[in-house]
Amino acid sequence: MTLKEVERFITLLAEAHPNAESELEFVDDYTLLVAVVLSAQATDASVNRATRGLFRDAPDPAAMVALGEDGVGAHIRSIGLWRTKARNVITLSQTLLDRYDGRVPRDRAALEALPGVGRKTANVVMNVAFGDSTMAVDTHIFRIGNRTGLAPGKTTRAVEDQLVARIPAPLLRPAHHWLILHGRYVCKARRPECWRCPAQEPCQYTGKVLTPP
Ligand code: SF4
Repeated sequence: MTLKEVERFITLLAEAHPNAESELEFVDDYTLLVAVVLSAQATDASVNRATRGLFRDAPDPAAMVALGEDGVGAHIRSIGLWRTKARNVITLSQTLLDRYDGRVPRDRAALEALPGVGRKTANVVMNVAFGDSTMAVDTHIFRIGNRTGLAPGKTTRAVEDQLVARIPAPLLRPAHHWLILHGRYVCKARRPECWRCPAQEPCQYTGKVLTPP
């Protein structure tokens, strides 16, 4: 895809999702960080069901540490990998208290040093909480990047680097949300719904599904 086609693709998604934002529920930087950590290999809807009670009982790092691993576990048991995630949430909350005065650091290296936080989670937090122009490549964005010609790459990092280099800077931050929603609801893994896709024209996928089932 040429740079002009990349811009056209993203602009068409923007027009389709003018108010796109994260589907995870959170109230501040800290609860966003915890929600994103919990969302690994889980749906946003399942995380939201668990965090409503969790954040009511533990809205900040000190309350979370006081709640303890068992207390966190009781809230998130319906989410995959809940034992490990409960441990990570307690350790990262203690780390925020010990090193950052209970705040979420605006620093990639510091974020990625927290338990349960990898590059993708750090990118989401930097994008949503701090307004940085980062691109968190999840399974949907990885698929779209390769399928459509938008940002081909063998690894999530390669796709991320391509997207950051090719999407015009003013569109980069919201593009994260537009692409995720597009992958979730239209450009689906098994059967993309190309017949109702707003970006059909610049998309280079050769197996487009143009008739509804
Ligand atoms: S035309 Fe189909 S494959 Fe291309 S972006 Fe749209 S849904 Fe995805």
